[in-house]
Amino acid sequence: MTIPGGNKSKEIQTLIQNMEAFNEVTAQLQNSYDELQERVKKLDLELSDKNEELEKNLAEKERVKNYLNDILESQTNGVIVVDRKGIITTYNKTAGTLTGIKPRGCLGKTLEEVFPLFGPIVTRLGNNRGETISEDKDIRSANGEDLHVRVSASPVWDNHGGQIGTILILQDMTEFRRMEEFAQRNQRLREMGEMAAGIAHEIRNPLGSIELFASLLIKDLEGDTEKENLVKHIQAGVQNMDRIISTLLLFAKSAQPSRQQCDINSLLTECLEGINNVRIPENINVIRKYGQGTLLANGDRELLRQVFPNLINNAVQAMPDGGVLSLITEKSSVSASPENGSTKRQYISVTVTDTGLGMSPDNLVKIFNPFFTTKDKGTGLGLAISHNIIKAHQGTIDAVSEEGKGTSFTVKIPCWDEGFDEK
Ligand code: ADP
Ligand code: MG
Repeated sequence: MTIPGGNKSKEIQTLIQNMEAFNEVTAQLQNSYDELQERVKKLDLELSDKNEELEKNLAEKERVKNYLNDILESQTNGVIVVDRKGIITTYNKTAGTLTGIKPRGCLGKTLEEVFPLFGPIVTRLGNNRGETISEDKDIRSANGEDLHVRVSASPVWDNHGGQIGTILILQDMTEFRRMEEFAQRNQRLREMGEMAAGIAHEIRNPLGSIELFASLLIKDLEGDTEKENLVKHIQAGVQNMDRIISTLLLFAKSAQPSRQQCDINSLLTECLEGINNVRIPENINVIRKYGQGTLLANGDRELLRQVFPNLINNAVQAMPDGGVLSLITEKSSVSASPENGSTKRQYISVTVTDTGLGMSPDNLVKIFNPFFTTKDKGTGLGLAISHNIIKAHQGTIDAVSEEGKGTSFTVKIPCWDEGFDEK
């Protein structure tokens, strides 16, 4: 086959041109491909950046959520949040400790059904145009303690100003109220003490004269036994009054405890063995639960020897048909200022419990008053004096009682290792 030379070179030319065109297209394609790859790579990078950012955001959100949750759970106040329908959405640990109900038992349920006690305050809040309101309630805690709780209700607003629910803050005011009552009682007893001291001094002088004249009279009446006996009655009466006045003055003058280490367990044992007329009848069973080791209080042994026998005698007298007398001692700490819950002080606490007659609430508020007695031969000064002595030790004394069930007295005295403020 013959190919004409001119044609051949033309064809080659065309072929070359085509090849070049093809190469160019290929190069363009390659370029586009490279560009595409570059863009995909960039997109990939952007995507992974976005992913990373997203993960970071999620982690941050989780961290903030945990942080807020930790704050909520560390609150010493109980927090309960309900939504607009009254359903409990938030409930912290302290709320559980105070009310005795676990979160499982209330989240998702209505406030009315779990805490009917708090229902009225939320209703009142609604009628009060959203201003925070507070009420004090008596509740029983998780460990069976009777607590005095301040419940404050406030509305929860969203950032558009709409109310999305109600927040209830529960604050344990038990210790605070106890201290308040103690302070009021102190004030009342101090005033009574001042008055009693005044009267006692006024009576002592004429009493001295009566005693003197009676002794002169008895000398004159020597031989007349009948009349002598009458005068002896006068003398006995005078002595009796003098004894009452001495006890009264003991209450009226403020006790000055000396700074001593006082081993409370051994003091109680000594009391049970019979100081100050303590006698435990056969039909009373004594249970002692003494705290481990030596419990040293910062206390004047001589003064405290007047307190515990009186509590034990009262308990025995409250159980004419027998029963159980228990004495419990332990170390405990109490917040010095319960409002902010800060500084804790160490105390030795002594609880004297009987299963006796108990007292009515009306009587219970009067037991520390001088001369309050329900006994035929009572002086009504035992607890008034005990209160004075414990107060002088910077301690506290309290009673709880239920009629027909029994009574429990708790005395708290600062521990020896505490810095004792001798004001
Ligand atoms: P007193 O024993 O002379 O009556 P107290 O000051 O010791 O005086 O007690 C005052 C009153 O408190 C008693 O008369 C009694 O009514 C009541 N009381 C004290 N302790 C108890 C107790 N453990 N159980 C019941 N009542 C008590
Ligand atoms: Mg008594």
